[in-house]
Amino acid sequence: METLSHVIDNQHVAAQAREWDNIYNPATGTVIAKVPLDDDQAVDQAVEAARRAYFSWSETPILERARTMFRFRELLTLHREEVAALVTREHGKIFSDAYGEVGRAIEVVELAAGAPSLLKGEWLPQVAHGIETALMRVPLGVVAGITAFNFPAMIPLWMIPPAIVSGNTFILKPSERTPLTSMRLLELLQEAGVPAGVVNIVHGGRRVADRILEHPGIQAVSFVGSQPVAEYIYRTAAAWGKRVQALGGAKNFHVVMPDADLSRTVEALTSSAFGSAGERCLAGSVVIAVGGAGDTLTEAMTARAQQLQVGEGMQEGSEMGPLIRSEHRDRVIGYIERGVTEGASLVYDGRQHTVPREGFFLGPTLFDNVTLNMAIAREEIFGPVLSIMREPTLEDAVRTANMSRYGNTASIYTQSGQAAQYFRDRIEAGMVGINVGVPAPVAWFPFAGWKNSFYGDLHATGMDAFWFYTERRVVTTRW
Ligand code: NAD
Repeated sequence: METLSHVIDNQHVAAQAREWDNIYNPATGTVIAKVPLDDDQAVDQAVEAARRAYFSWSETPILERARTMFRFRELLTLHREEVAALVTREHGKIFSDAYGEVGRAIEVVELAAGAPSLLKGEWLPQVAHGIETALMRVPLGVVAGITAFNFPAMIPLWMIPPAIVSGNTFILKPSERTPLTSMRLLELLQEAGVPAGVVNIVHGGRRVADRILEHPGIQAVSFVGSQPVAEYIYRTAAAWGKRVQALGGAKNFHVVMPDADLSRTVEALTSSAFGSAGERCLAGSVVIAVGGAGDTLTEAMTARAQQLQVGEGMQEGSEMGPLIRSEHRDRVIGYIERGVTEGASLVYDGRQHTVPREGFFLGPTLFDNVTLNMAIAREEIFGPVLSIMREPTLEDAVRTANMSRYGNTASIYTQSGQAAQYFRDRIEAGMVGINVGVPAPVAWFPFAGWKNSFYGDLHATGMDAFWFYTERRVVTTRW
């Protein structure tokens, strides 16, 4: 049985942990490795290594740092299938999803490779007689990332490429549920020529995260995970004087207008709600059918859910894999039970769907006649459960959706430019889809969650990432 080591200064360092957790293949339910949970001393070692590496790395010419990104991009492209298969193995999502995820990760590396253009400063001569002012962007020092389980390749790579190309050194605490992909990514970074100590991995759970938050040698923390933890990370890291960006949970609303193209809408909703077993922060969770759209939509979605092939991620034809753990499946089933108790109509019951016997599988579930007072309409389920609500007008639908405390993403399906524009301008969500089920921005734009889906000022990716990982220095000179 493989037991994971930390990677500090490009060396494997055995963990001094009392508590260990199992890493599973969720499609079979078998344990594939063990991960240490409580070795917080390793954070101190990693900070030392990252601080040592910082002095030379931050002085390495930016063109050289950028070339490392070009090499990493080539390696990641070369190994894309292998990394995707590893994502499927430890996460369970189907291979095409995992392959797409690695593609999204490659985009961030491509963004980071443009650092020499993006990190140029500003300069203004003659701000007074004989005096000029210049602004330069400088790295922060040692920065850290604490990541969620659901995108084992993409989320760490939202952080590492922009952070290190800007001259910082990095400590990653990957999710203890899907840490194997990060280990492989680090090997590829090393092969691309990233020097020892520039990227380090410390495994663990809450205790290790806490040590990162309080460590005086770490300047900034990037976090992706559930809402309560995001809020905790934001408050705690800020209290310790750190710059923080904390991306939290979500409850994403989709609005279907009567003029929407039904078959395309059904495909987009199916992929949004059931893709990756609903374990996406951009997963569609509630659909509001406007006017007369409800009955046909419910009928078509039920038929589609019935056909959905649930199976092992590498198996040809699988459309949806398992949930991450059996406890998480129990939690999702708890929401299905609660939906029934609270009076929603269970039109398709995922508990009765044909799924493999082993592993943490659960079929797709569809509720109709859901109202905002029900838990399934308010709370993040993070599983393959879609709730349909009905509203008479678009204005009502937007008002209802805006009552959510979350604001990650929202989509509308319509052929009317007027309706699309109304929705785009009034919906309280940072990532808006128009006839798009998963409106994940390409890496050149920020991953712009609002409300309780995000704590901080500067988002992940896009120019925000560079602004987050650099400080501005303004120099005034009298020549
Ligand atoms: P999680 O909050 O359980 O864990 C995320 C990370 O926080 C892990 O590394 C974990 O070890 C650490 N952690 C957990 N509890 C902690 C605590 N009490 N103190 C300090 N650290 C702690 O999240 P998850 O289940 O791994 O991921 C799923 C969640 O992430 C969902 O809510 C999803 O919406 C969210 N997510 C959000 C985005 C986004 O962009 N907004 C993207 C992906 C996932």
